[in-house]
Amino acid sequence: LKRYTVAMIGSGAWACAAMHIVAQNCLAYDEADEFVDEVRMWVYEEEFQGSKLTDLINSKHENPKYLPGISLGENTVADPDLESTVRGADILIFCAPHQFIRSMCKQLIGKVKPEAFAISLIKGMRVRSDGPQLISQLVAKYLALDCSVLMGANIAGDIGREQLSEAVIGYANPEHAKVLKKLFETRYFNITLLPDVAGAEMCGTLKNIVALAAGMVDGLGLGPNSKATIMRQGLSEMRGFSKALYPTVRDETFFESCGVADLIATCLGGRNRLVATEYTRASLSGRPVSFEQLEAELLKGQKLQGVLTSNEVQEILKQRGWEAEYPLFTTVNRIVSGYFPPTDIVNFKEVPSRPI
Ligand code: NAD
Ligand code: 13P
Repeated sequence: LKRYTVAMIGSGAWACAAMHIVAQNCLAYDEADEFVDEVRMWVYEEEFQGSKLTDLINSKHENPKYLPGISLGENTVADPDLESTVRGADILIFCAPHQFIRSMCKQLIGKVKPEAFAISLIKGMRVRSDGPQLISQLVAKYLALDCSVLMGANIAGDIGREQLSEAVIGYANPEHAKVLKKLFETRYFNITLLPDVAGAEMCGTLKNIVALAAGMVDGLGLGPNSKATIMRQGLSEMRGFSKALYPTVRDETFFESCGVADLIATCLGGRNRLVATEYTRASLSGRPVSFEQLEAELLKGQKLQGVLTSNEVQEILKQRGWEAEYPLFTTVNRIVSGYFPPTDIVNFKEVPSRPI
């Protein structure tokens, strides 16, 4: 049948771990054989060890900069040109750091098949003067496509190594969701379909703020009770804020992989946690470093989403007069903005009432 040509827009760590699955599923033959074998992957072109990253990916079939040692499959073709990556594609997978997605979508206006549909693996949001915009809403609006989301406890390297994991696909169109489940599900990666796009995406976005707080607690050398306090408060603020912005968001969503499970995984082993831990240690040692410096030193090109998201969420909290109702989010923002030291994370209940 081979009805669907798939394109991946992005080539960072998570994009490559997802490609490891998607490329294999596209190649796999079953009775329906719905997917065209070749998958194009848009790569933000850069030099790596003296060669173009696209050339390295196309010769080694892995991305040596962002996910070394994990095969992308011989059917993956790296392409530095965004337009040619999506030309003829029926399914567009968006997976790039959220701060870049608007300019990428602008470039793609009028270039995608009208009957195509999309899925976003991106955790983050945008704030416009008239309010918040989810990345799936941005993609849907700019490109006039249905856009589902895939969100879960999905630390890229572990999925690349084929460790048991799961995710939800938040969808509005059930026919698209069925096809997307086939595209992403595999032996070690279970997919649950959830008719709550906004809820799933808000979970994936907001847990990055809580992970910064968890990293601060680790940097202070505190034990599991303190970290659990931060995670519980964080989950509660995630739910409150998501439902306040999008009243259709379901309570059950917070018990799925995109909710509590992703919160746990990211607070234990994610990049936001790591960078916030080191920020806190540096601040305690009297040799403070900025989040930007630590992002560059520790992540080697990978991008930190939590600080940007904290600023975006705080803008909404300020606009609406909600800061006191979200004391953990507000405290994290006061700390990452440099107003208060990371030791104040344990005082999150009283920080929002302090003058800055
Ligand atoms: P990454 O942070 O590993 O890599 C950064 C990527 O951004 C690289 O591909 C780089 O080439 C690209 N880039 C740099 N400058 C750019 C520019 N100006 N324009 C466009 N692209 C540029 O990327 P990732 O881990 O694939 O993250 C993408 C999304 O996936 C994020 O929203 C993240 O929160 C989410 N996510 C990540 C993980 C993970 O474990 N890494 C897991 C789940 C979800
Ligand atoms: P970090 O960006 O903090 O590594 O989180 C990765 C993630 O979203 C795991 O699901």
